Amino acid sequence: GLTVYLNGEFMPLPEARISPLDRGFVFADGVYEVIPAYGGRLLRLGEHLQRLENSLAGIRIDNPLDRPAWTAMLEDLLARNGGGDRSIYLQVTRGPAFPRDHAFPEQPRPTVFAMSTPLRPLDPALRASGVPAISHEDIRWDRCDLKTIALLPAVLMKQLAKERGAFETILVRNGLVLEGAASNVFAVMDGVLVTPPKGPFLLPGITRDLVLELAAEHGFPWREADLPAAALDRADELWVTSSTREIVPVTSLDGRAVGAGRPGPVYARFYGWYQEKLAQLRSG
Ligand code: PMP
Repeated sequence: GLTVYLNGEFMPLPEARISPLDRGFVFADGVYEVIPAYGGRLLRLGEHLQRLENSLAGIRIDNPLDRPAWTAMLEDLLARNGGGDRSIYLQVTRGPAFPRDHAFPEQPRPTVFAMSTPLRPLDPALRASGVPAISHEDIRWDRCDLKTIALLPAVLMKQLAKERGAFETILVRNGLVLEGAASNVFAVMDGVLVTPPKGPFLLPGITRDLVLELAAEHGFPWREADLPAAALDRADELWVTSSTREIVPVTSLDGRAVGAGRPGPVYARFYGWYQEKLAQLRSG
């Protein structure tokens, strides 16, 4: 069984208990992170902990642990669960409070939870064919840069994708593509890799930054620029990126083929470069 971390202690998952008055449960008052580990080593831990700090500050929860304590706890959690290729889910909420009141409690006692599960690679057949996606108006709020546990819009958008046989829903606000329900978006347009600029309407993905870094490292032309949904008709390639799925080629959007309708050559290069990074991490 899984060993999880809850409020300073490691325990078997079935023993982990939180109050039904936890503000995470009652108000979705909390933030989270997902961090991948390859060969037992955490990918971009510093970047994930920085984003966690930003998310906590954004909703005004004091960080319950400092960086060395987060690092030690997460490495311990990985080791206790056998290392290998895993994904860590961690969540911090504003903790239990009674009576129910929207405003913060006087003395919040944050709930800190972390677990590690095996990283399940994307079905190789899907990776080879590319995946279908749909687009939808963005129904979220204006602080999508914070990784909060208030995920109902993402839940509904992912369910819609599933019901339509698609892998992801690409969110559009005022005619601009922002990101996927649980991923960032890249397009290859006229030989240039394009992704929307960071801002309040999308999550600054750690994988997104890594992909841009790979472009710079290998001298591939790239730009952070607005991506009108209408311009996707002319895109040669479309990808979505995330920590658990890495880079995924999108080969149809709303039922129409993207580019040649197959994973493109630019995707193949970047996916190879990404796997090189992971190999380096695995071998220390
Ligand atoms: N955008 C959203 C809305 C997400 O939920 C995620 C992560 N699941 C991402 C982008 C990708 O971020 P990362 O590369 O850090 O996993």
